[in-house]
Amino acid sequence: MLSIPIFEQPLFMNTIYIQLGSNMGERHFYIKESLLQIEKILGTIIYESKTYESSAWGVTEQRNFLNKVISVKSDFSAKDTLKTLQKIEDKLGRKRTEKWGERTIDLDILFYNNEIINTKELTIPHPYIQDRRFILMPFAEMNGKFIHPKLKKDIFALLKECKDTEKVSVYEI
Ligand code: ADP
Ligand code: MG
Repeated sequence: MLSIPIFEQPLFMNTIYIQLGSNMGERHFYIKESLLQIEKILGTIIYESKTYESSAWGVTEQRNFLNKVISVKSDFSAKDTLKTLQKIEDKLGRKRTEKWGERTIDLDILFYNNEIINTKELTIPHPYIQDRRFILMPFAEMNGKFIHPKLKKDIFALLKECKDTEKVSVYEI
């Protein structure tokens, strides 16, 4: 078997977990298009969860959200990852925004490797992971044994403890 010397292998050394959410317009199109852009610019998608649907809690006139989580291998820093995701959001969503409060696409960094990052523009792990079933459920499908580096519990445990009662289900197209 041919072995490639370490120094010639691509340096995709970071694992980045991202949440994709949409509750406006062609929701599924925005998620699909974001995935294409992420593969094109940021790196290789290692796992893509199923698409889940959840209600926009409290607000009955807002459409349900479609959510998905992915893991990506990339050599981008956390800061450059955020910039890239914001560019994709701008390109896909914000120019088509018709109404406040609704979003064509929201791309959030859930985890960046096992790192804890707190800067003006970035909080990693994402602060609401443990409170939102629409993040925990697809994440459990992807990697339930992943340990939250700050709370020191795995995703399965966080899902069990989660008080969120919002309905989340697999979305069939
Ligand atoms: P939200 O995701 O809370 O609905 P926005 O998408 O408008 O809101 O993001 C608001 C700000 O959140 C961004 O400008 C970004 O700097 C900040 N932010 C902090 N931590 C994160 C993270 N982990 N992932 C994405 N954005 C983050
Ligand atoms: Mg966001």
